[in-house]
Amino acid sequence: MRLCRYTHRSAGGNRIGVVRDGAVFDVTAALEALPAHRYPFPPGDQMIAGLDGLRPKMEALADAGVGVPADELAFLSPVANPTKIIGVPQNYEEHAQEATADHGISQGKPRRKMEDQGLFLKASSALVGPSEGVALRFGDRRTDHEAELGMIIGRHGSDIAYEDAMGYVAGFAIAMDMVVRGPEDRSFRKSVDSYAVLGPWMVTADEIADPGALDFFLSVGGEMRQKNNTANLILDLPGQIVWASKFYSLYPGDIIMSGTCAGVGRVQPGDVMHLEFQSIGAMDVPVRAHAVY
Ligand code: MN
Repeated sequence: MRLCRYTHRSAGGNRIGVVRDGAVFDVTAALEALPAHRYPFPPGDQMIAGLDGLRPKMEALADAGVGVPADELAFLSPVANPTKIIGVPQNYEEHAQEATADHGISQGKPRRKMEDQGLFLKASSALVGPSEGVALRFGDRRTDHEAELGMIIGRHGSDIAYEDAMGYVAGFAIAMDMVVRGPEDRSFRKSVDSYAVLGPWMVTADEIADPGALDFFLSVGGEMRQKNNTANLILDLPGQIVWASKFYSLYPGDIIMSGTCAGVGRVQPGDVMHLEFQSIGAMDVPVRAHAVY
C-alpha cells in the first residue's frame, strides 16, 4: 500500500490517502478506529503504530472511493509525528571521498570511520513534505541537498538483532537530508526547519522486495546531480537498525535517513529539486528563501 498525507491546494486540510495508479483515495475516516489517548500521549506516530489494524479499512475505503489525480494534491510528510529522525553519515564510498576532499563539507578535518562518527539526529521539527518545500536560511552560507532512502520504523524496539531488523520497518519513502555546511555540530546544521523532507508517500515494506537494490536520482533544474543505487550503501539497512537500536529505543514513525551518495551540491532560492526512487515514485521539492516577517 502507498499511504500519503496531503492537503488540497485550494481547500487545505490534512487528509490521509491511499495512492493507486497515480490517483489518491481519501481514507481519512479509517483513523476513527485509532484509540483515543489522553495526556501523556504514547511516543511515536499513532497512525503508523496502528497501521496493521487500520489497513483493511483503508483498503476498503479506497476500493469504494473516487480517486483524485495525485498531481492535483499537495503532499505532506507521510509521517506526522516521529520521535526522532536518525541520520547515517558518509554511507556511500564516493560521497565519503567527495566530502573529505571538499573543504566546505569536511572543514579540513580528516575522514573518520563511520563507527567513530556515530549516527546523528535531526530535529523532528525540521520535517516537511515535498509540497512545503525547503526554506533556505543563512543565504550567505552553502546549503546542500542530500538524496536518501528513508526507512520508517513500524513498531517499538531496542537492541534489535540483524536478522529481525527489517521486520521493524513499516515502509519506505524518499528522504532529503538538507544541510547547512559549516563548522557547527552536524545535528545543529541539519535541523533547520524544513531541512528534513519525506515524501511523496510511504510505500509499505511488503511492496518492496529488496529495498537494498533501488535505483535513485536527484536533479536540479534538469541537471543530474546525484544518481546511485542503495546496493552501494556501506552500512546496509538492517545494520542501520541494529546500530541505531543499540543507542535509541525506536518508536513507530521514527525515520532513518540512510545516507547520501556522491553529487551533493548547493541549492538556491527558486531551484526545484526533482527526486525519483525505484519502487517508490517521484517528487519535486521547491527551494525558497526563508522569510522573516
Ligand atoms: Mn545525509
